[in-house]
Amino acid sequence: MSDDSRATETVGRLRETFGTGRTRPLAWRRRQLHALRALLDEHAPDLTEALRADLGKSPVEAFTSELRFVTNEIDHALRHLDGWARPRRVSVPVSLRPARARTIREPLGVVLVISPWNYPVQLSLAPMVGALAAGNCVVLKPSELAPAVSAELARLLPRHLDTDAVAVVEGGVPETTDLLEQRFDHVFYTGNGTVGRVVMAAAARHLTPVTLELGGKCPVIVEPGADLAATARRIAWGKFLNAGQSCTAPDHVLAIGDTADALEGHLATAVRAMYGTDPAASPDYGRVVNERHFDRLAALLGDGRVVTGGDHDRAARYIAPTVLADVAPDAPVMREEIFGPILPILRMPDLDAAIAFVNARDKPLALYAFTSDERTRRRLLTETSSGALGFGLPNAHLTVPGLPFGGVGESGVGRYHGEYSFETFSHAKAVLDKPLSPDTMRVAYPPFTAIKERL
Ligand code: NAD
Repeated sequence: MSDDSRATETVGRLRETFGTGRTRPLAWRRRQLHALRALLDEHAPDLTEALRADLGKSPVEAFTSELRFVTNEIDHALRHLDGWARPRRVSVPVSLRPARARTIREPLGVVLVISPWNYPVQLSLAPMVGALAAGNCVVLKPSELAPAVSAELARLLPRHLDTDAVAVVEGGVPETTDLLEQRFDHVFYTGNGTVGRVVMAAAARHLTPVTLELGGKCPVIVEPGADLAATARRIAWGKFLNAGQSCTAPDHVLAIGDTADALEGHLATAVRAMYGTDPAASPDYGRVVNERHFDRLAALLGDGRVVTGGDHDRAARYIAPTVLADVAPDAPVMREEIFGPILPILRMPDLDAAIAFVNARDKPLALYAFTSDERTRRRLLTETSSGALGFGLPNAHLTVPGLPFGGVGESGVGRYHGEYSFETFSHAKAVLDKPLSPDTMRVAYPPFTAIKERL
């Protein structure tokens, strides 16, 4: 069978299942969520090993940022599913009474989830949690750049979940292109903006709504008055996790006033405390995903002055946690999302300059600030736009299930996590129910003589 007809067959099979109504009952949805949880519990060692093979991810990172993240999403969905799925009464204007109005959340149908390589377990399964909770059939297309995880997902998901409602299609561009030819009821894509545009254009042919979870450069503003040792630890943690390959990782630091000099030393100390004097030997430090990304990153190491790091080894796909100081705003490292363990520091004379710098560029997925000044917080809240705004801590906003996760502008379209996932993968159907008797509509029927007299 050609890939094209395989995509047609897969989507057709799932659409047939959806048509039977099998995925609608909350009991079916709950069973799938419990089954997914059981998969994660039972096969944690297999997935952890796959993450090590693809990304050199430490078992602790694999657990906290991938497996436990998904189980938390599942537990949250199971706890709140009844409430999310419950019809919501809304009031009816006096002119329409007596009548009842409510919204009901209906599943969309067959949805496609396309995931990237950097958190290949989390970014495949967390969207699926929302899609299944909302009663959909799901096609998952994991990233070919994390082949070990992709193979494990393709092996394990059919063993645990309803195979007539969930399918995994492995592959790269040709397989994804074939899938995108199909009509889906929603396409959920995580990855870069160039492919995001391809996905959106393909979906537009079928008028299919999309969620695009994209990336970009997440700035960190550091103001005088912040505890710089603690600030450096938080930034280093957020940046060098997964070897800098996190969409929410701090991309660069905008150091205001004289903070740059002190921050340099504190960042070097923080890196040493976390990964030792030879991070290549640290079991807690990851690797760059492949040679192409390694070469792209190695070419950026020449910008500015190296404060710490700079070592790299192509054979091992290793780039040391690197801090670059005195980087010019138009240096190559500032032209694209870094997406690797390189942290440039730029000097900013004041907060006005930092805000102007942020606003002159694409709206980031996240903006972070370390400040002790309440006015600065207020200014950043109102004078900048970003998917998220984090004070005092990078990345962690995405672990708060009540917060939406998504970008704005170039950093994405739509949002998910917790109830936002349920909303993304369901349709709020408006239902109005008015009894025929008494026929209060009589006043609205033509001829409009009585109404005209009152106007
Ligand atoms: P990737 O190369 O794994 O691509 C993502 C997916 O798109 C894969 O499944 C791939 O097969 C598919 N794909 C690639 N080219 C395609 C094409 N021409 N047509 C159709 N499908 C195609 O991952 P990536 O894009 O390198 O991921 C890194 C980017 O993703 C970064 O910009 C990062 O910031 C962003 N990201 C965003 C989030 C978020 O939640 N907002 C999370 C992780 C990564």
